[in-house]
Amino acid sequence: MAVKKNTLKLKFDSSRNLAPALESKSVAKIAERYDLFINGKFEKPSSKKYFDTINPASEEKLSSIAQANAADVNKAVVAARNAYEKGWKKTSPKERAKYIYRIARIIQERARELAVIETLDGGKPIRESRDFDVPTAANHFFYYAGWADKLEYAFPNRNPKPLGVAGQIIPWNFPLLMAAWKIAPALATGNTVVLKPAETTSLTALKLAEIIQEADLPPGVVNIITGAGATGAALVNHPDINKIAFTGSTDVGKLIQKAIAGTNKKATLELGGKAANIIFDDAPLDQAVEGIINGIFFNQGHVCCAGSRLFVQESVYKIVLQKLKDRMETLIVGDPMDKNTDIGAINSKQQLEVINKYLKIGQQEGAEMFQSACSIPKKGFYCRPTIFTNVAQSNRIAQEEIFGPVLSIQTFRTEDEVIEKANNTPFGLSAGVWTDKGSKIFNMTSKLKAGVIWANTYNKFDPTSPFGGFKESGFGREGGLHGLGAYLKV
Ligand code: ADP
Repeated sequence: MAVKKNTLKLKFDSSRNLAPALESKSVAKIAERYDLFINGKFEKPSSKKYFDTINPASEEKLSSIAQANAADVNKAVVAARNAYEKGWKKTSPKERAKYIYRIARIIQERARELAVIETLDGGKPIRESRDFDVPTAANHFFYYAGWADKLEYAFPNRNPKPLGVAGQIIPWNFPLLMAAWKIAPALATGNTVVLKPAETTSLTALKLAEIIQEADLPPGVVNIITGAGATGAALVNHPDINKIAFTGSTDVGKLIQKAIAGTNKKATLELGGKAANIIFDDAPLDQAVEGIINGIFFNQGHVCCAGSRLFVQESVYKIVLQKLKDRMETLIVGDPMDKNTDIGAINSKQQLEVINKYLKIGQQEGAEMFQSACSIPKKGFYCRPTIFTNVAQSNRIAQEEIFGPVLSIQTFRTEDEVIEKANNTPFGLSAGVWTDKGSKIFNMTSKLKAGVIWANTYNKFDPTSPFGGFKESGFGREGGLHGLGAYLKV
């Protein structure tokens, strides 16, 4: 077992030894308790049960969240069905677009509040929720509002019609953004929705429910129910659901596929990943290293498309490794509300345990672990940025999704070799290629089995481009025109 403690003389850039720059919490209005959003109103759960949502950065309780049982799920589905049959499917596309634009604009108006709540509830750095999650969520509503009255142009001569009621289940890594990914295209295409956020991050979805009320969306068109796996399963199994849209783990994705087999329910599943980021010796190395850092440490590695496997061409391995370690030493891990923080809190205690389990497994498998030497807060759930070298293709840390700031590094000599290694995983969600040669990019992108491949960049998202995977990363696409098709009979 080889654990390499950092022995480098720390080259702390003094500009990174920064005084705290805390975002104010005062804009975040968090109620003591949240009920279920059904038929345009907040209703107490018939289960009478509530669970706590905490701030993973401090372990302090933020609020109590209603736990929906099967009867509550049924109420929400009935509300969505009534809203669909009695109004929404007959509402003119232009009228639908107005509501969706309105939601987008209110998200922009309340952006600061949403960003602060996202960070408090989920642990991601405020810089990310402020500059990425919230604006991208608003952009999704803007983008799909634009499509609402142009569906015949999107699908010419195919008479597009909505599916009906969509059951949508989302994870904890991008809570508001995932809700926007799912709700915006469903509304633009004339469907109604029952959405369930993840149990550790319900707050921004409930804030979105307030925004939906403020936008005067007809009651029942969007219903937001909270709870854990059992609530999700009740939604999946409800007989009056026409479509399931799920983002989450491959294990739960498989359960959902089994549950809906033999029914008429349509599904899109966006599941796990183990993306390869590939650096060739002709790549601009400093940019590539920055892209690798962004690819795996962005959002604490809580990203299904995280570049969690790095392949470096042998001739530049040493220099890339040194640059990577130097850059890791400058990353600040700590309070997500601090605008200087690069890596915030791990979303939950359970997730930190999963990550720590993999750190042990990696060392037991014989890989060499390196962590930056930065200090981390005593309270809350944190993990230092971590890399493993001496990794074998068969190692679990190179094969299984860790969902944390952990990178496994391997080397390669030829294009064919790295294509084979990169594709040797059950997943196929995303990949990254770093090279100066356009022809190499084309060769790699045509042979890598991944739904999204970035070239000389990483983790770039845009509402206009489709996202989704192959193999155990799921099926169906969200975003862009493809994301519309997934909510239509054509
Ligand atoms: P992660 O590992 O990202 O937390 P999960 O797949 O466990 O992913 O969770 C993603 C979402 O799926 C969450 O909203 C969770 O509550 C929900 N969920 C968990 N188990 C089930 C299930 N059996 N059926 C439906 N939804 C579920």
